[in-house]
Amino acid sequence: MAAEKQLNVSDEVAVEINKMNKWYGSFHVLRDIDLTVYQGERIVIAGPSGSGKSTLIRCINALEQHQKGSITVDGTILSNDLKNIDKIRSEVGMVFQHFNLFPHLTILENCTLAPIWVRKTPKKEAEEIAMHFLEKVKIPEQADKYPGQLSGGQQQRVAIARSLCMRPRIMLFDEPTSALDPEMISEVLDTMIELAEEGMTMLCVTHEMGFARKVANRVIFMDQGQIVEQNEPEEFFNNPQSERTKLFLSQIL
Ligand code: ADP
Ligand code: MG
Repeated sequence: MAAEKQLNVSDEVAVEINKMNKWYGSFHVLRDIDLTVYQGERIVIAGPSGSGKSTLIRCINALEQHQKGSITVDGTILSNDLKNIDKIRSEVGMVFQHFNLFPHLTILENCTLAPIWVRKTPKKEAEEIAMHFLEKVKIPEQADKYPGQLSGGQQQRVAIARSLCMRPRIMLFDEPTSALDPEMISEVLDTMIELAEEGMTMLCVTHEMGFARKVANRVIFMDQGQIVEQNEPEEFFNNPQSERTKLFLSQIL
């Protein structure tokens, strides 16, 4: 078993989702989602396009609202109370397919904006923290450039560094490598592997099944708004239980 899989998964619950349902208008997009994520877990969420993967992780940091059931993040119940939403957003980092960096701000400014304005971190300290994380994702020399001057892989690593500057306890990734040219995928995955090795709790929507095998302790398969099946990677890939999972795997592997 890969070394990084031996990392501690604690019995402390990071995210608890109970019978959660969400609709977009009359469209029932998530159905009776039950999911407990423990601190230190690295979960890969897989499934066909339109199965609700993005919606699920967007619900976890309240980018989308659910209508039924409950979501608890680090002990805080997600409700419409803005105070709770602020607290959860500061504990949960999110990285998107399309980086979402501010184009008119430098790399450093992208990384210090939220710490300064949301966390009220003094500017100098925020810059030190930002440089620390830019070093971690191996692009400190790009700090004074603008996003448009960087490659896609570099921009995505900035997006990861920017999230880390808020010192999140949980990181959500929504297809972080899907918009990248093939030769840049591994530099982003390597950054994510390092984060996993350091014990970050991670939920990753990705089609990178090599990453899932190497890093995940659990793979969740979604289809039509439901969690159809979940298992540790070896079992998930070698011994899928449902027909829908088998079909999906036959199409992507
Ligand atoms: P996935 O990430 O697995 O591809 P999504 O969570 O993006 O799936 O979408 C699940 C379903 O919800 C899809 O049918 C999609 O068209 C629909 N959907 C997503 N976002 C919205 C929205 N803002 N309004 C209405 N329907 C949406
Ligand atoms: Mg999606």
